[in-house]
Amino acid sequence: MSCIQTDDFYNDLYDLMTIRECLPVSNHWKEYAKSNRYMNASDEAMGRFAAFSSELQLHFMKGERYARKSATIREWQNEARAKDQQLEKAQAPRNFSCRACSSRTMKVISKDLHDWGEGTCRSLFLFECSS
Ligand SMILES: [Zn+2]
Repeated sequence: MSCIQTDDFYNDLYDLMTIRECLPVSNHWKEYAKSNRYMNASDEAMGRFAAFSSELQLHFMKGERYARKSATIREWQNEARAKDQQLEKAQAPRNFSCRACSSRTMKVISKDLHDWGEGTCRSLFLFECSS
């Protein structure tokens, strides 16, 4: 199984992350308009102020995210390619036997990479006894 995904996957993932980063800002300004008053401003005035503030802040956040999008996706793709190469080079362990029958004829049925959260991926092989 390859680690690399389609361009659409990375674009969608990045956009989803952008939404997750921006949504709290939008919600903050909505709550701000409900719970704050500046010099007896009307609900409408506070709503307009919050909407303007929200749009201004989001404009810069989205711009910064857009500016980093290509480089970030390229970095993700390079990491996925490195994982694919690591998986391709991984050699199945030898010199072990089946726990049930002690046979040494074990067949690899699955080979995968697992990220254990230590910054490195380790190969995981699953075997099936051939006897
Ligand atoms: Zn066996």
